[in-house]
Amino acid sequence: MRTRVHARTLALLLVVGLLMSTVWGCATLPSAGGQRQAKNIILLIGDGLGPSQFGAAWLYSSRALHKDLHLVQVMQSGRTGYIVNDTADSMVTESAAAATQISCGVRVPARAVGMGPDGKTPCKTILEIAKEKGMATGLVTTSGITDATPASFAAHVEHRSDEASVAAQQLKLGVDVLMGGRKRFFLPEAKGGNRKDGRDLTTEAINAGYVVVANADELQKTNGPRILGLFNMANMALDIDRATTQEPSLAQMASRTLETLSRNPNGFFAMIEAGRIDHASHFNDAPATIRDTLAFDEAVGVALEFQKRNPGTLIIVTADHETGGMAVIGHSKDSTEYVGMDLALVQKATLSLERLAAQLGKSPSPEKIQDAVRQHLGLEITTQEAKDVANDTIRKLDPKNYSHSILHTLAFVLRPYYGIGWVSQTHTASPLWAFGSGPGSEKLPGFHHNTELFHIMNSALGN
Ligand SMILES: [Zn+2]
Repeated sequence: MRTRVHARTLALLLVVGLLMSTVWGCATLPSAGGQRQAKNIILLIGDGLGPSQFGAAWLYSSRALHKDLHLVQVMQSGRTGYIVNDTADSMVTESAAAATQISCGVRVPARAVGMGPDGKTPCKTILEIAKEKGMATGLVTTSGITDATPASFAAHVEHRSDEASVAAQQLKLGVDVLMGGRKRFFLPEAKGGNRKDGRDLTTEAINAGYVVVANADELQKTNGPRILGLFNMANMALDIDRATTQEPSLAQMASRTLETLSRNPNGFFAMIEAGRIDHASHFNDAPATIRDTLAFDEAVGVALEFQKRNPGTLIIVTADHETGGMAVIGHSKDSTEYVGMDLALVQKATLSLERLAAQLGKSPSPEKIQDAVRQHLGLEITTQEAKDVANDTIRKLDPKNYSHSILHTLAFVLRPYYGIGWVSQTHTASPLWAFGSGPGSEKLPGFHHNTELFHIMNSALGN
């Protein structure tokens, strides 16, 4: 009897042990192979979206707009990971290395696009893997479609500045949906573009079955099945400036992309990037950073709606790096108490600092600066502050810091008005988040290097 009980107990322990090892095996061997979990993958990247950018957008949205964020809704699924993003050659990354680490799953050096650890040998990206499985693929950004993040999923060049090659490679690979700015890399010099090889890739795209669209209206009307959306010769507008353009929002691009790609019965992979949170943060532009983060949030909302209708969809939301060392700070212009940002003032801004600086031109007078700030930001800086901006005081005090002319000083002057400060005008090593929902997202919680995001997606595809 005792022997039989022992035998049963042992057998039970063995079964439990086997089950445990299977569970742990799944958790620790992301590429162990097996059944495909996710039919579709939607990867949403906020370029430059650190925890502080998110925090500022959350405060603004909940207190000034009285609106919950879709980003929070995804986080509430409980599948949030802590992400670090150092590269093969640096503690602080730029977008090409960050995106390649996410797209290929290996640590790589700065500025190479879709290249492995040596920076010279192409690595296979998650988009290429999806394509091999017969899935549809799409890349969307508010920056240039040839810029580092979208490039790193569908091109292989040694330096991110080789955007003419990126454009040709993205089309040659046959990415079904490509949307963003920097049309100039698709057009020859004779047609106002940057291509020195004389090729007109928009004509080549039409011949390859793409519908080429140039504004929100055309995007709304197109029915695909392949779409090349080029909405600006340079980057698309920051969301704060978008009303004066014919450009679609990131949410509109995301919506049309998911609708188009989901026609493929084998599913799809889509990378949707808010590419300009980074740029607004480089300019230390608090209102523009918050608005672009909210535009990203709308796109996340589109992905969540799609997932409701298509539960086999893995959504991952993350960032490539933080930009600017943004922080909502305690003391303000009017108070030494802990108050935080001036929500009404953030709401008043009607122009990005990018456009404001362009309007001011080189060496503007203090009066011109004061007028522009009054007109477009709705606030009155002092004559001394305007003089400091004109003198570019911060750049002179901190010459080793990467700095946009006058904007660094302007951001410093605006700091106590907005209650938002910045450490720098370049990228930082701030840790990030990755959060998601849907099949495969159970591997997101924990501490990850950003290379692991590739393995989580690859594993969801059954590899
Ligand atoms: Zn950047």
